[in-house]
Amino acid sequence: MNLPAWEIGRALGIPIRVHASWFFVFVFVTWTLATGYLPEALPGLSGSRYWGMGAIAALLLFLSVLLHELGHSYVALRYRIPIGQITLFLFGGVAHMRKEPPSPLAEFLIALAGPAVSFALGAFCFGAAVAAEALPLPSGGRGFVVLGGLLGFNNVVLGLFNLIPGFPLDGGRALRAGLWAWSKNFHRATSQAAFVGLGFGLLLGAAGAALVGGAIAGVLDHSTASNGGWLIFIGAFLFGAAWNTRRQVAIRSALASTAVRDVMIRAVVSVPPDLTVQAVVDDFFIASGYGGFPVSEDGRILGLVAVEDVQAVPQTLWAWRTVRDVMRPASPDHLIPPDWSIMQAMERMVLTGWDRLVVVEAGQPVGLITRSAVAQFLQLHKA
Ligand SMILES: [Zn+2]
Repeated sequence: MNLPAWEIGRALGIPIRVHASWFFVFVFVTWTLATGYLPEALPGLSGSRYWGMGAIAALLLFLSVLLHELGHSYVALRYRIPIGQITLFLFGGVAHMRKEPPSPLAEFLIALAGPAVSFALGAFCFGAAVAAEALPLPSGGRGFVVLGGLLGFNNVVLGLFNLIPGFPLDGGRALRAGLWAWSKNFHRATSQAAFVGLGFGLLLGAAGAALVGGAIAGVLDHSTASNGGWLIFIGAFLFGAAWNTRRQVAIRSALASTAVRDVMIRAVVSVPPDLTVQAVVDDFFIASGYGGFPVSEDGRILGLVAVEDVQAVPQTLWAWRTVRDVMRPASPDHLIPPDWSIMQAMERMVLTGWDRLVVVEAGQPVGLITRSAVAQFLQLHKA
C-alpha cells in the first residue's frame, strides 16, 4: 500500500508512525461501536455520547496495539537488534527489526513478548472493569465498566490471534524459532513456518467466506457478515505475507548457494590508465557493449571505469582526459575471489556503494560481477 505514513512520536527511542490506512480502521471501529455495540450495552444515552465513547475506545485499542509492538521491541532491543520504526496500519502494528534475531531463543522471546503484553493488558482491563462494577458508582460509571470489558476482550483476542502459528504472525515466529533450534537451518525453518502461514491464511479466508455465506443465506445474523469480511481480508493478508516470505527465502538461498564464478562476466578486458576517455568510449564501451571495465597497469588493478564516470565528463573534454582522471580508484574492498557466494558479493556492493566488483584470482582479474548480472541470474532462476 503506497499510502503516506506520519510520525506521531517516539517510544523507547523508536519512531512511531501511523499509516494512512489506519484511519480507515479508526473510523470503522468508532462507527461499529457507536452504532451497534455501545447503544446495546449502554441504552439510553445520546448519539454524540456513543460516538465520543466509540472514538475513545478506538484510540485505546490503537494504544493496545502500540503497547503490543513495544513489547516485541523492548525484548529485541535487549538483544541489540535495532528497530527502524513501529508502523500502525490497517491490520494492526509492525515493529521493523533491522536484523534477524541472533538465536532461536532470542526469536522465541521477542515473538512472545507482544502477546504477553496483550494478555497482561487484557487482565488489567478486565480486573479494572470487575472492580468498577463492585463499587457503588454513579450512573456514568457504567460506561467505564463497559469500556474496560471491551478493551479486556479485545486485548485477549489480539494476543490469541497473534499466537496463530503461521509465519509472519508471532506464533509463526515462535514456531520458526523451534524449527530453527531443531534443524539449525534458519532459511529452511523460515520457509516451513511460512508454509504453515499459507495454510492458516487459507483457513481464515475459508472461515470468513463461510460466515459471509451464512449471513447471505440467512442462517447467520447479518452482523456476522462484516466479521466474515474482516476474516477474509486478514486471511488474504497472512497468505500474501507468508507467500512473500517464502519467495524471499528462495531468493536468499539461491544467492547464498551460487558462486560468483557462475554468474560473473568472464570476457574481462582491462583498460590501460593512460588511454584517453575518447578512446575508451570508442574502442571499449561502444565496441563491447559492457557498462564498465577494470583499469589495470602491469597486472595491478588500479580502479574501475564505468559509463557513469564517462558521462560525468563533458564530451568536449573526452579527447583531453585520460582514464586515470575519471576512474574510481579501487581498494581491496572492490576485489573479490570467484568462490564467494553471490550473497557475499551483494553485501559487499551494498557496503562499498559500487554496483560492479572485480573478481580476482591469483592476483589477476578473471571477471566482473555486476548488480544487473545478479538481477538477470535471479530472473532466469525464477523461470
Ligand atoms: Zn506481535
